[in-house]
Amino acid sequence: MDAICAAATPLGEGAVSIIRLSGADALTIAALIFIPYNNTPVAEMKGYTCAYGKVVDGGERIDDAVLTVFKAPHSYTGEDVAEISCHGGVYVTKRILRLCAEKGARPAERGEFTRTAFVNGKLDLAQAESVMELISAQGELTLRSANLTRTGELSQRIGEIRARLTKLLGELAAWADYPDEDLPEVNTDTMTATVSECMKAADKLIKTYDNGMLFKSGIPAAIVGKPNVGKSTLMNLLLGYERAIVTDIAGTTRDLLEETVRLGDITLRLTDTAGLRETDDAVEKIGVELARKRLGESALVIAVFDGSTVPDDEDRQLISQLRECGGSVIALINKSDISDGGEYAELLSGLPYVIGISAKTGAGRGELEAACAEIFGGIDADAGMIFVNERQKFCLERAKSNLERALSAIEAGISPDMITIDITEAAGALAEITGERITDEIVSEVFSHFCVGK
Ligand code: GDP
Repeated sequence: MDAICAAATPLGEGAVSIIRLSGADALTIAALIFIPYNNTPVAEMKGYTCAYGKVVDGGERIDDAVLTVFKAPHSYTGEDVAEISCHGGVYVTKRILRLCAEKGARPAERGEFTRTAFVNGKLDLAQAESVMELISAQGELTLRSANLTRTGELSQRIGEIRARLTKLLGELAAWADYPDEDLPEVNTDTMTATVSECMKAADKLIKTYDNGMLFKSGIPAAIVGKPNVGKSTLMNLLLGYERAIVTDIAGTTRDLLEETVRLGDITLRLTDTAGLRETDDAVEKIGVELARKRLGESALVIAVFDGSTVPDDEDRQLISQLRECGGSVIALINKSDISDGGEYAELLSGLPYVIGISAKTGAGRGELEAACAEIFGGIDADAGMIFVNERQKFCLERAKSNLERALSAIEAGISPDMITIDITEAAGALAEITGERITDEIVSEVFSHFCVGK
């Protein structure tokens, strides 16, 4: 038998489970285990039709279900596909899957349905990747980006750059191969213009990667500050519920708590740290070390100070660390409900964002949101909302560096042969994005990130 099978829905109790079969024998296997109540044999069902019936193991009825039939090439994979929508129980799903396997279907590997679709030319590699991105999208922007790539927008842009490079390669080849013919010499200015425009286009797409990462996974942000300044209370305020345990005893927030917080349109991946002070306490020391590490990794540092206290050396130390750290910093002078911030405002002057806040009452939250929006809101969708993924970025960077080499070769007046090599390499790297020039190994790597059944 030639078919793969898997549950297309997550294994768990739910209303419906879908078991998917794809391959030349998908419908043969479906016919062995499914009997439509309208007595039309499965083999006679047309594509894009359903039948209500029973799933049977020999004489035993396992479940009532709906069978949907897709006929090659008009299916997701491009092969014959049968989908059994049964009741959404864990056991019943597994039982039907086992039945499919007993009848000769092979359990599908991760992403094998989409991989088959790729192999059959139903979608290119960038589009296949976007299916996974669509599934994991957590917000409007990532969903839009995934959909643009899935419908071919990224592939089209890559195609346009490649087409320009290919045309240039054609001209270079004609010129190099037939030097005696009266072919017009490739104009250096035109060549420079084409290569640098292609480079810019590639660069624009490369830049979308970082933005995508920020939107997909949230902006890594850390809350830092001495014990008892109100970090946990702030975290709770932002989360809207009691997540961290707030106590009056200094140094009780020992772990790094990570939570995702939405501030307006921006998602923060927020870590509440155990403060940055030197400590002898073993447990807290681990927290402090982690905190230091996080400070380096964070795109945003929210530093909290207790405005109701007098600044001490630790505060000064933290402030000087803040001035040095590379990321964006927002300083909060907390407890505005019981104090006016005392000397902190002056100590913190010069930092771009200093906000008085009360983590307890929520006063100042709006200013904090506005500051985040100002820092990160500028990240917008200039590139039409496409966010390239890491693999695509890597290909684009290779293309870009080859084009850079070509450009300096042109400027240096080096022979067309050498320029041709660089431009060919660049075009090749771009072709890997859509999967037109790609090794099996890379294809396997791409699909290994998929879930089974997709
Ligand atoms: P952390 O050690 O930095 O996490 O500090 P906590 O969040 O545990 O807060 C320490 C103490 O300060 C607790 O008693 C909080 O109730 C109190 N606290 C935190 N924020 C405020 C605030 O804005 N106003 C007032 N009055 N008290 C606060």
